[in-house]
Amino acid sequence: MSSSSTTSSTTPAVAHACSSTDRRGILFIVSAPSGTGKTTLCKQLAANLPELWHSISYTTRKPRPGERHGREYYFIEEDTFRDMIGRNEFVEWAQVYGHLYGTPVKSLTEKIDQGIDVLLEIDVQGAMQVKKRYEDSVPIFILPPSMTVLRSRLQTRASDSQEEIQRRLHKAGEEVWSYREYAYTVLNQDLGQSLGDLESIFRSERLKTKRLNITWIEKNFIFDDDQKPGDRKDLPQPKGVPLP
Ligand code: ADP
Ligand code: 5GP
Repeated sequence: MSSSSTTSSTTPAVAHACSSTDRRGILFIVSAPSGTGKTTLCKQLAANLPELWHSISYTTRKPRPGERHGREYYFIEEDTFRDMIGRNEFVEWAQVYGHLYGTPVKSLTEKIDQGIDVLLEIDVQGAMQVKKRYEDSVPIFILPPSMTVLRSRLQTRASDSQEEIQRRLHKAGEEVWSYREYAYTVLNQDLGQSLGDLESIFRSERLKTKRLNITWIEKNFIFDDDQKPGDRKDLPQPKGVPLP
């Protein structure tokens, strides 16, 4: 058998073993200093990879022009947020730039149990909490090309005051050093290249042997004690062995 025919006969099996009905979803965590481009990248990723669900956080910050409740965030009052903390409704929560942000636990758990991969776009404090709680999660850090480029991206985005931009830049100087806590680091210089890098990470993680569902392997490759390989008419028969 040629190597190409080996590949073509194993690919569907692997794809099936990794499909959403056969394994638990993977939790991807993306963090980056503000202005790096993580929202741009995560939106594009979720559009390119339909089997990836982009979690929607709750926040006490007010919506920016163009943002919609239930799309970018659930925008809520601080009292409501604190009630949710009291009811343990967040996987993690943190105060970022003077506002509260939190990841809802219910939708995240449901998706993972259904075998759907989840994308969290959260700050470093939140990422460290999730990493502890979900040891199998995949933390990815995105770096801007430089502080100069970061400043120019924050200014081009034009969503924050000069004072707020200054505050975010100052925080970025500390946040970049957190890259060491993440399994992967992606440099967001060229958008297309960064998207390609992220897609490679997602696809590779999905193919990791440790994520294969053992039940699927057993169902397809292990026979009952009194069953011989020839009994399985659904499997390719060895050459020269006639079917009974
Ligand atoms: P973040 O979510 O990390 O705060 P955004 O996604 O809002 O950042 O991006 C900040 C600004 O930088 C936006 O105006 C966006 O269009 C721009 N941007 C993002 N990635 C790139 C890139 N690779 N090259 C040039 N501009 C980019
Ligand atoms: P922004 O207000 O610019 O949308 O987001 C500010 C920061 O809050 C970003 O670093 C963003 O990733 C982070 N953030 C958004 N949602 C959450 C969340 O649910 N939890 C935490 N810890 N951080 C979040």
